[in-house]
Amino acid sequence: MSHYDFVVIGAGVIGTSVAHHLAALGAKSVLVLERGTIGAGTTSQSSGLLRTHYSVRQNVELARSSWWAFNNFAEYVGDEEASCGLVKCGYMICAPEGDKLDPLRASLDAQRDMGIEVQLLGRDEARERLPIASFDAAALIGYEPEAGFADAYLVATSFAKSARRRGVKIIEGATVTGVIREGRRVVGVETTAGNFSCGTLISTQNIWTPELAGWIGVSLPVKPERHTVLALECDQGAYTFKMPAFKDLGSPGMLYFRSYGGSQMLVSEGVVGETLNAPETEQGDISLDYVAEVGAQVAERFPAYETAGLASSWTGVYDVTPDWNPVLGNVGDVEGLVVGFGFSGHGFKLSPGIGKLLAQHALGQPTDVSLAPYALDRFSTGALLVGKYGSGAVS
Ligand SMILES: Cc1cc2nc3c(=O)[nH]c(=O)nc-3n(C[C@H](O)[C@H](O)[C@H](O)COP(=O)(O)OP(=O)(O)OC[C@H]3O[C@@H](n4cnc5c(N)ncnc54)[C@H](O)[C@@H]3O)c2cc1C
Repeated sequence: MSHYDFVVIGAGVIGTSVAHHLAALGAKSVLVLERGTIGAGTTSQSSGLLRTHYSVRQNVELARSSWWAFNNFAEYVGDEEASCGLVKCGYMICAPEGDKLDPLRASLDAQRDMGIEVQLLGRDEARERLPIASFDAAALIGYEPEAGFADAYLVATSFAKSARRRGVKIIEGATVTGVIREGRRVVGVETTAGNFSCGTLISTQNIWTPELAGWIGVSLPVKPERHTVLALECDQGAYTFKMPAFKDLGSPGMLYFRSYGGSQMLVSEGVVGETLNAPETEQGDISLDYVAEVGAQVAERFPAYETAGLASSWTGVYDVTPDWNPVLGNVGDVEGLVVGFGFSGHGFKLSPGIGKLLAQHALGQPTDVSLAPYALDRFSTGALLVGKYGSGAVS
C-alpha cells in the first residue's frame, strides 16, 4: 500500500486550497483524491462573491484572512500567469426600516471596529455607484470598497496547479469508498484506485460529507440544499463591472446581485433553498413561476428590469449545517482525521484562509485564526454561530 503523510478527499476549492497550503508550508508527501474532476463539484456552481461583511464576527476574521490572497493571487500561488478573475467592484448592502436594520448597523460597526474599510452611504451616493437601482426605501446603506467577486473554478484549478508544482499528487476519477482504522486512529483510505495509508486524512467532501459520517460512525450535521441563480439581460439597465455587488436585505428573498459578463445581472436568493434527499449536483427544474417571482422582486429594486429577459439560469447545491457555518477541525476522539465542511453557500470567499488554517492544523502548527468556534461539538454544547439576519448565506 502506498503511503502519504496527508491524504485529502475532494478537489473542490477547499480541498485544493488545503493541498496548496500543505505543500507551501513544507509538507512533502500529499495525495488528493477526487471522484470527478478538479473544481467540478459545487465549486463550479458558485456565484463567486467576495466580501468581509458577515454578522458573525468570527467569519469576518476568516474572510479577512483570505483577502490578501485574492488581491495578490499570482504572487500567492507563485505563478505569474495565474488569475482568480477578480473584479473589485465593491459590495453594497442595504436594509429598509424593520428587523434587518439593527443587525446591519451592528455588523457594519463590528467590521469597522476590526479595522475593515466600510462606508455608510447616503441614497444619492448609493445611486452614483449603482445608478440602475432605486434606494427610495433604504434606511441604511453600507459599502465595502475592497470587496467584489472572482471565479471559484479558476481559483480551484490554480490551487491544484500550484499544489502539483510543489509535489502534491492529485488523482482524478478516484472515489474514496471507506477509511482504514486502527482503533481510534484513521490510518488510510480505501478507494477505487487502490488503498492508501496516511498519517492524517483531511476530508473536504462538501455535500458528500455524510459518506465520511457513515465510515466513521459519527453524526456530521450537513444537508444538501439546492439554490437557483438567474442571469438577466436588460437593454436599458446594463449591470457593468464598475457597479458594486449588492445585497438587498429588504427583499423577501434577501436577494444578492452582481454583474455577469459586464452587462447582465446575476441574481440569487439568500434564504433557505430546496433540501435534497441525496447529495447530487444535477441541475434542478427552474419553473417560469419562480423566475416571475424573483423577477418581480428584482424589478422592485431595479425598475428597468421590469422588462428584463432571462439570459441563462442554473442551480447549485449548498452544504448547509444547522447554523449555516462551517465545521473545521477534528471529529470527536477520532485521531488522524481533520474535516472542513458545511460552508452553507459562503465558502469560496473563505477558501484561501480555510485551506491555510486546515493545513496548519493538520501539520500541528498554531493556526492564524482560532478554529475553536467552528468545532463540531458546538452542535451539542449549543455554542452555535448563528447569524443575525436569519437563515441564509450572509451568516
Ligand atoms: C449556487 C452557489 C452560489 C454560491 N455563491 C457563493 C458566493 O457568492 N460566495 C462564496 O463565498 N461562496 C459561494 N458559494 C459557496 C462556495 O462556492 C462553496 O462553499 C465552495 O465552492 C465549496 O467548495 P468545496 O471544496 O467544499 O466543495 P466542492 O467543490 O463540492 O468539492 C468537494 C469535492 O469532493 C469530491 N468528493 C466528495 N466525496 C468524495 C469521495 N468519496 N471520493 C472522492 N472525491 C469525493 C467531490 O467530487 C467534489 O469535487 C456558492 C455555492 C453555490 C452552490
